Amino acid sequence: MSDVTHITVIGAGTMGSGISLTAAMAGIKVCQVDVSQEQLDRAAAYHQKTLGRNVAKERMTQDEADAALGRIGYATETCMASESQFAIEAATENEDLKKKIFSQMVQTYSDTCILATNTSSISITSIADSVGDAADRVIGMHFFNPVPVMKLVEVIKCPATSQDTLDRTMTLSEAMGKTPIAANDHPGFVSNRVLMPMINEAFHAWNDGVAEPEAIDGIMKLGCAFPMGPLRLADLIGLDVCRDIMLVLHNGLGHPDKYQPCEKLVELVEAGRLGNKTGWGVYDYREAAATA
Ligand code: NAD
Repeated sequence: MSDVTHITVIGAGTMGSGISLTAAMAGIKVCQVDVSQEQLDRAAAYHQKTLGRNVAKERMTQDEADAALGRIGYATETCMASESQFAIEAATENEDLKKKIFSQMVQTYSDTCILATNTSSISITSIADSVGDAADRVIGMHFFNPVPVMKLVEVIKCPATSQDTLDRTMTLSEAMGKTPIAANDHPGFVSNRVLMPMINEAFHAWNDGVAEPEAIDGIMKLGCAFPMGPLRLADLIGLDVCRDIMLVLHNGLGHPDKYQPCEKLVELVEAGRLGNKTGWGVYDYREAAATA
């Protein structure tokens, strides 16, 4: 049984907004923080829309939806700092930024608060090393997109992570309706070490003219029983996120060519085609979004 009643989620983008909604739906009070008011407004709109859809589909009552929404506070700095038993960082995937946020977390939250990161690929050890005595409270809590739907939390422990931190993180994940599976801290952990090279290879197949994206995705869906093809999944994850994770594998695992991001992937990122979040990545979603 989790005793967690209050958490803070730092970053209100794709992942942070999903984590805060999932926690609120599990009865936990959430402070949703972001430096951008626009992102907070977008997260609030997403929360309202998703809860409204759940009511329409009779997955919850209007009272339950109202209660879940009422559990989320939105702030550009902090709220519920002293009450938060967990602070889950889900800000932009950048090591220097995350270390800066973690040093603020150590100052802001109580000395029993678990300091978790939703990073896809940055070293938990390196983040823990940057926070001195608080290192035993640092852990990776890697949710998957879309958070309210995906069952897994890949829980990443580093050598400094205490058993108590691990136990409490596994328990909170379960209380949020997820299945936590623990792994050790290595570049890409398990999920992205296996997934990202496959996505990258799909970009190579497209770049080499083996097939167009629809055919690559169709073959992988029907032939490998994937729920969606690797290029469609890349759009959902964000092409910039995919490129950055490949760079972490490239820099961390020491094979000069094996993990180099495909030039086609880099080209689309540089053109601002980041996937669903910009309306255009491998596929173009702009027309569908305009008529939705
Ligand atoms: P995103 O770009 O959608 O959102 C990042 C948010 O962080 C933005 O709203 C930004 O304003 C905010 N931010 C930046 N600096 C901040 C600060 N100092 N304080 C508070 N907020 C700040 O990114 P995302 O896709 O939600 O990814 C967030 C994290 O989750 C990354 O570490 C990423 O690797 C990881 N992740 C992403 C996915 C995915 O599928 N997108 C899956 C698993 C994990």
